[in-house]
Amino acid sequence: MNNPSEVVFRVAVGVVVVTWFAVRGYFQKKVGSSEKISSHHGRREKRSYMLVSVSFLPILLYVFTSPFSFAHIAIPSWLRWAGLISGLSASGLFAWTHFALGKNWSGLLEIAKDHELVTGGPYRFVRHPMYSAFFLMGIGVLLLSSNWLVGGLNLTAVTAMYLVRVADEEAMMLGHFGQSYQTYMDHTGRVFPRLRT
Ligand code: SAH
Repeated sequence: MNNPSEVVFRVAVGVVVVTWFAVRGYFQKKVGSSEKISSHHGRREKRSYMLVSVSFLPILLYVFTSPFSFAHIAIPSWLRWAGLISGLSASGLFAWTHFALGKNWSGLLEIAKDHELVTGGPYRFVRHPMYSAFFLMGIGVLLLSSNWLVGGLNLTAVTAMYLVRVADEEAMMLGHFGQSYQTYMDHTGRVFPRLRT
């Protein structure tokens, strides 16, 4: 799979992944680690988080060496380029969620000292826009690479992380913020904005 157009798609996947990690790196450095007053993550959550991190390895391998040509799927070029829009939108949304969460962000399920409930920015529309960004990124990589292994592994890992975490995360937030979070839940969707309020 070394024809010139494949190389362009590999570079495009590389650009998308670099912007994603640049966003995470920038905000992780900026926010630092704040004091936590409670942790609600078990082994399952840690493992699913690890799985998502590991699922980026085949993506990097695809960018540099492309050993997965057996998993190539034939889709039209325009659809592959739609993947670039999805991937770059994912990085943009990822940056917006980090910006909105500020020091309240944590990679695992934790409540920080002076944790504030964020309901602005993308959190105005959905409760889990960062997970929406992960899904958009997975879809972007799947389309751009048109490779079921490279994109499929990442999307499977992201889906597993979402399913393992989301109910526990909402229970944690309800436990800490009580009625404020309940009211917030009543007005927002999980990863898709509500059509009717
Ligand atoms: N699920 C959210 C946030 C992911 S980061 C999203 O997809 O956008 C996970 C951490 O964010 C959790 O440990 C929790 O402490 C924090 N968090 C989640 N929603 C929040 C909110 N609305 N306000 C403040 N902190 C929130």
